[in-house]
Amino acid sequence: MTQPAFSRDEAVPSSVIDRRRTFAIISHPDAGKTTLTEKLLLFGGAIQLAGAVKARGEARRAHSDWMKVERERGISVASSVMTYDYAGRVFNLLDTPGHEDFSEDTYRTLTAVDSAVMVIDAAKGIEEQTRKLFEVCRLRDVPIVTFVNKLDREGRDPFEILDEIEQTLALDVTPASWPIGMGRSFLGCYNLFQERLVLLEKGTKGALPSEGAACDGLDDPKLDALLPADAVATLREEVEMARGLCPAFSLDAYREGHMTPVFFGSAINNFGVRELLDGLAALAPSPRPQPARDRVVAPDEKAVSGFVFKIQANMDPKHRDRIAFVRLCSGHFKRGMKLTHVRTGKAMVIHTPVLFLAQDREVAEEAHAGDIIGLPNHGNLRIGDALTEGEGLRFTGIPSFAPEMLQKARPVDPLKGKHLGRALQQLAEEGVASVFKPMIGADWIVGVVGSLQFDVMADRIRTEYDVPVIFEPTPVHAVRWVEGDDARLIKRFVDANQSAVAEDHDGAPVFMARNAWHLDKAAEEFPGLRFEKTKEPV
Ligand code: GDP
Repeated sequence: MTQPAFSRDEAVPSSVIDRRRTFAIISHPDAGKTTLTEKLLLFGGAIQLAGAVKARGEARRAHSDWMKVERERGISVASSVMTYDYAGRVFNLLDTPGHEDFSEDTYRTLTAVDSAVMVIDAAKGIEEQTRKLFEVCRLRDVPIVTFVNKLDREGRDPFEILDEIEQTLALDVTPASWPIGMGRSFLGCYNLFQERLVLLEKGTKGALPSEGAACDGLDDPKLDALLPADAVATLREEVEMARGLCPAFSLDAYREGHMTPVFFGSAINNFGVRELLDGLAALAPSPRPQPARDRVVAPDEKAVSGFVFKIQANMDPKHRDRIAFVRLCSGHFKRGMKLTHVRTGKAMVIHTPVLFLAQDREVAEEAHAGDIIGLPNHGNLRIGDALTEGEGLRFTGIPSFAPEMLQKARPVDPLKGKHLGRALQQLAEEGVASVFKPMIGADWIVGVVGSLQFDVMADRIRTEYDVPVIFEPTPVHAVRWVEGDDARLIKRFVDANQSAVAEDHDGAPVFMARNAWHLDKAAEEFPGLRFEKTKEPV
């Protein structure tokens, strides 16, 4: 940490791919994700006024085709992907729905990013949802930059916060900036990566804060001139201590997902946001190579390829139109292009892609690796599907996660069983929930990661399919996909455990364990099988 990690005038990469930063924000509700998102857009020049994420002006979008798609279809795709420029880079910020609609969607969005920003409330530290989302990032070694928010309020001691991140997430931490005071006495931060002192400017509502003063290290007398004596002394002392306690920043360790640089700030005061953006511009990875079944796809390959990571249904219950969000993995996509839908082998001409890549939200005509395009379709695209210029690629690492909450679903009208089955199948294909059909019995088991999803599903099944449905408790404690190299062994397991086996929406066998013991016993009796918590798309 003796050398700055990067300087402000770092060269802008020349290739369109290297300029891209596709990322998501992970946080627990209330930590400040929405506020930070707004401020990132504000600094990126994508919005003029704070508050615009929640209430975007109608005027700005009046002439945009892009928005027409949205209006005609009645879908709000507006906030799913937000693209803005900063420091010569193109940032694609993917929204991960928080709290209420916490669902598989949230998890899957993380399969489409190259890095993440973890927002933590300085008073609360690592909270439940942050931890869960972090675990998903870890599955794919997604590099994480941490933003400790709300320094303008009394919070925890910065050492305590760093220690908690390290301990609870088993992740190396290194401060990227260091806070000077906290709460009412919060004065600003010293940016250790850029060697700059940035002070909180009070009463500058809405204006972007200054870039701060470049310093020649912490011993620079400039600090003594700009800060009260006791604040400088504390800053010097604390940074020295932090340098002793934390490993020096390593770009490799960060990029491999083992180390997180930590910025401190106050999103609501626009404070620390520029430093965070500078950090992402300089350190966050550009589009990474994507693993596929037979090979790894490099972002600079000529042929266009991508995978579906999210499906958003139409809000209009009369239509089954959906928008499939595709993460481009390679190539130079142009509107009107013909792509192959690998799972079905069919050609698709992409006439009306929803492209997010336009400063003024005008229609963009093209997109590159790392960008997201939205494809309106009638339900033929599923999560995990690959689109290519002909090659039979199957991208991996877009798993289904064994749901944590399970309930039994049955129709209010027993004669509507078939209809319910169809509705559940479609919703499962959309990735709204996991649906399992037990081999014995007429009910379905539905699994979600957030309990509110049951309400969302019940509502959608009633309004879109006209099937009132009841969700009830089930004795099933956990589901695991049954996998193994010997198909006969799988069949033997299924035959021997019929009352505890179901099929998922692709027809793959799953074991429904009543408790942890039941699961252990199955694994013991069938050592040749694997009981998996995740499943790759077929
Ligand atoms: P989200 O649920 O993570 O999207 O959080 P929000 O951005 O909606 O913020 C939650 C609450 O924290 C709101 O009342 C914000 O105004 C407030 N908040 C966000 N950032 C800051 C900050 O830097 N300082 C303080 N004091 N409050 C903040």
